[in-house]
Amino acid sequence: MASITFKNICKIYDKEVVAVKDFNLEIQDKEFIVLVGPSGCGKTTTLRMVAGLEEISSGELYIDEKKVNTALPKDRDIAMVFQNYALYPHMTVYDNMAFGLKIRKMKKTEIKERVINAAKILDIEELLQRKPRALSGGQKQRVAIGRAIVRNPKVFLMDEPLSNLDAKLRNEMRAEIIKLHKKLQTTFIYVTHDQTEAMTLGDRIVIMKDGFVQQIASPQEVYNNPANEFVATFVGIPQMNLFDAELIMEDDEYILALNGHKINISDKHKKILKFKDIKPQSVRVGIRPENIMISEKTPESFEINVDMSELMGHEMLIHSKLYNSHIIIKAQSRLNIKADDKINISFMTDELHLFEKETGHNLL
Ligand code: ATP
Repeated sequence: MASITFKNICKIYDKEVVAVKDFNLEIQDKEFIVLVGPSGCGKTTTLRMVAGLEEISSGELYIDEKKVNTALPKDRDIAMVFQNYALYPHMTVYDNMAFGLKIRKMKKTEIKERVINAAKILDIEELLQRKPRALSGGQKQRVAIGRAIVRNPKVFLMDEPLSNLDAKLRNEMRAEIIKLHKKLQTTFIYVTHDQTEAMTLGDRIVIMKDGFVQQIASPQEVYNNPANEFVATFVGIPQMNLFDAELIMEDDEYILALNGHKINISDKHKKILKFKDIKPQSVRVGIRPENIMISEKTPESFEINVDMSELMGHEMLIHSKLYNSHIIIKAQSRLNIKADDKINISFMTDELHLFEKETGHNLL
């Protein structure tokens, strides 16, 4: 069992750099949590506080029911896998994996059993007598994970473990990590700046920016219902299209105007706006590239000139401008749309997002 609770955790370096501010989270036993965000957002600092490698400036950290703010790393029953693998170059794979157990004075037979068992799980049995220099990047990564597995920890912490691998290997290892989590039935906290990794690995993801948590939710929820404009654009490739617009009332009904061009708001969204008593105001309208249709000319459609189209296999990305904003549309490749074509597009109104212009908060 290992649940982890963060209560108002803050980290301030050198009395002035606020790295993490008011971090609150309850991680359930066996949950896979991903901390994600751009460089410098505080994700590594958060992970290092859990490991006991960084002092907590204020707040409380619990592992299970026990407060561990000042517990030594070795007493936390946690194993960490680092981005640079941190293998001992002069030791064999076997000795690298056994090292942590030896210094804990575990019996030789028990150590052997654990190392062989971990090597089997990771499919590296034939590498046990090699030195790290004779391993590929992917193999080194497995050894680094193996060294964590043998400890049989309550919690696995992983800091960008795949960032030194090429794209193909990264995809493969991602799938391996999902399997590993299922097999080990342990709590995982995983740090990455890569939103694809976050979306595919996490039961829940914590999106951070400038030391502040922006949203904590399942990948699906984050994608479909982003808390704010930052989350909306951070998650999803290509990113959500955003436009300035006016939310206005006409005949007691909400309606949107993009540069004077009116578009309807779906009944579902009208209800939410009414319920929240949202006042007419300047807003940012978001729509994902897959939620824009190439359509007939209608009173609601927009006519645009295609700047460029990119073939992506069975889909294509169409780049254009809507008023002064860049817009990307995902369409079927068979439509064969090319640069300089004139097309009509319309938005799937159920899939529109509305953000407050000043704060970026989701209005829906
Ligand atoms: P990256 O993806 O680049 O590793 P991150 O999201 O993991 O970034 P952190 O490494 O946690 O971010 O850093 C958060 C903030 O704290 C940054 O502004 C960073 O410069 C600062 N910081 C990190 N470590 C220290 C330190 N030892 N002393 C002073 N400031 C630090």
